[in-house]
Amino acid sequence: MALVVHKYGGSSVADPERIRLVADYIGRARRRGDDVVVAISAMGKTTDQLDRLADDVSTSRPGREMDLLLSSGERISMALLTMALTDLGVPAVSLTGSQAGIITDASHQRARILEVRGDRVRAAVAAGQVVVVAGFQGVSRSRDVTTLGRGGTDTTAVALAAALDADRAEIYTDVSGVFSADPRVVPTARRLTHLSWEELLEMCAAGCPKPDVRAAEFARTHRVRMEIRSSFTWEAGTRVGPEEEVVEQAIVSAIVLEGGEAKVTVAGVADRVGVSATLFGALADRGVNVDMIVQNTSLDGRTDISFTMPISDLDVGLAASRSTLDDIGAADVTADSDIAKVSIIGAGMKTNPGVAATVFRTLAGEQINIEMISTSPIRISVVVHQAEAEQAVQALHGAFGLG
Ligand code: ASP
Ligand code: MG
Repeated sequence: MALVVHKYGGSSVADPERIRLVADYIGRARRRGDDVVVAISAMGKTTDQLDRLADDVSTSRPGREMDLLLSSGERISMALLTMALTDLGVPAVSLTGSQAGIITDASHQRARILEVRGDRVRAAVAAGQVVVVAGFQGVSRSRDVTTLGRGGTDTTAVALAAALDADRAEIYTDVSGVFSADPRVVPTARRLTHLSWEELLEMCAAGCPKPDVRAAEFARTHRVRMEIRSSFTWEAGTRVGPEEEVVEQAIVSAIVLEGGEAKVTVAGVADRVGVSATLFGALADRGVNVDMIVQNTSLDGRTDISFTMPISDLDVGLAASRSTLDDIGAADVTADSDIAKVSIIGAGMKTNPGVAATVFRTLAGEQINIEMISTSPIRISVVVHQAEAEQAVQALHGAFGLG
């Protein structure tokens, strides 16, 4: 008998009808012989509504109270799903993150899971119950309720699967899997049947919106098998696991487009020891998450450093960079937010030369200029002009025969 963790996102349980459909599906899985533990999100846009309510009464939004507020959304959905299961004759019990033993650090609104004490969940499963755990939340060692950051229920599901040694975590959502490219950009994009943990993590880090990048990271580290699938069609989705098991290993699996970043260029930096440490130290101190970095060869003792970072933090990033100008002997800081990052991901790149050449040749053929390049063993990312990004994705998708 398999133990499977099911995760249901907000759209999967958006209204009473959907909650009953999910309960029915879980009942079927039970009758097939699976033990089921559920990690559930708040209904529909509940978390956004609670967040707006906080704005209406508070400008300070204290973290501890925000977490008590936001975590209540999942309490509603967990109790309702459990009632619906009970009505179908499926023995079930709901548990908050705290009751389920999800222990986190104390950083409110972006807590990290330290440990899952799964005994209560295990006991309920052993007693034949479906256990419905509130996603996105835990409790700190000082017994305050914490939340994991938006989209955190994916991580709850994977962490539960790891702690319970489950066969897999099935992530039910409103898309039917992970695609070779965003189908809105590339109509011929295919649903991928298999991905390795490493590929999924690279894709999420490169901007693929689902599943959540922290869940992909947790799954890779703890080797938790996942399946990303639809709670609307219930068809087979994308399985994620060890690279050895990926049949039909393609050289390139997917092309991912990420907007939302800006390029910052610090010009005329003195070419001496420690300037990068000063510049990126200042950015790190202000919590700015820097992505790609390029430094040119120096001419006459001066060089340019460019990096990309989230547009949402651009003001902070620019201020941090400007504050270092004197120290690093630089002339000027400029920003360009009309950029996008296009990433090509595939485990087969490790053993197949020429992928980078194909990328560059394809973009050249489209007259698309590349502004920055970065790579990992299984990823090539390029920064291009935003207006040309979709064309770049379409051309690359075709060039690697992904359709
Ligand atoms: N309800 C939370 C959110 O909307 C957590 C989740 O859905 O994963 O971000
Ligand atoms: Mg949600």
